Amino acid sequence: MKKIGKIIITGPCAAESEEQVINCAKELKKRGIKIMRASLWKPRTLPGFEGVGEKGITWLAKVTKMGITIATEVLFPDQVSQVLKIIGKKGNPNKILFWLGSRNQNHYLQREIASRINKEAPKSVKLLIKNQPWKDEKHWLGIVDHILSSGLDKKRIILNHRGFSPKGLNIFKMRNPPDMEMAMKIKKITDLPMVIDPSHIGGTVNNVFRVMKAAKKFDFDGMMIEVHPDPVHAKSDAKQQLTFTELDRLLKIDSVTRNGYSSARLCGLRRNPLLEEPFYS
Ligand code: PEP
Ligand code: MN
Repeated sequence: MKKIGKIIITGPCAAESEEQVINCAKELKKRGIKIMRASLWKPRTLPGFEGVGEKGITWLAKVTKMGITIATEVLFPDQVSQVLKIIGKKGNPNKILFWLGSRNQNHYLQREIASRINKEAPKSVKLLIKNQPWKDEKHWLGIVDHILSSGLDKKRIILNHRGFSPKGLNIFKMRNPPDMEMAMKIKKITDLPMVIDPSHIGGTVNNVFRVMKAAKKFDFDGMMIEVHPDPVHAKSDAKQQLTFTELDRLLKIDSVTRNGYSSARLCGLRRNPLLEEPFYS
């Protein structure tokens, strides 16, 4: 049986307070999960909560001191330097995973971010790259080429499939319907690990479970899942963040579910009664 959970990255959409960040880290620690996500800077569709910014870096530094690697989005090269400087002083700079978000499609910035990591970060620090929002294989491959042109070692790159902006049949109203077949093709061509992001693909708790079930058909190397101590009151992506109890149920799917489903089935091109069952009423 294929196991998706080789690389498990979980944590809140955004760091909101020191208490929330540390509570999440303790929950991860209990479960033996080694990588926690938490964004400090949030690109938003509409004006609203844009993250706590620089002041949250010291909270993330505390998490690295608990032995957990912190994964966080960077939009500008200076944010890489800022995070490295503060975690270098107050935490463990070996335990950082930067990521490039889906909307950050300026290749000058992408390359400079990778180059900063290459020049300033310890070798254990990696870069995770999310696919662009629109469905286009060539563009996805192009991002990888831009990053590689920075000189960052290929061994320090992980890819992430977070789906594409909705278009066409989408019976479960996925927030960003996936093309898992394309993700597997990109994984093969680039020879890089590919992690799935059921949270941003699904957009609701039920859909996160559906995506996870479907993904079992494919050879993903890991998953990035949003989880929050109090999802209803989350400042961003409240509908899709799991509670820790739900996270435990989701991780069980990875251990017990044998067969997954094609992307066409997940989006309803072919009927699939199993995926139609609600997981929560
Ligand atoms: C996120 O991971 O919280 C996020 C904003 O994702 P994406 O870049 O995939 O939209
Ligand atoms: Mn999010």
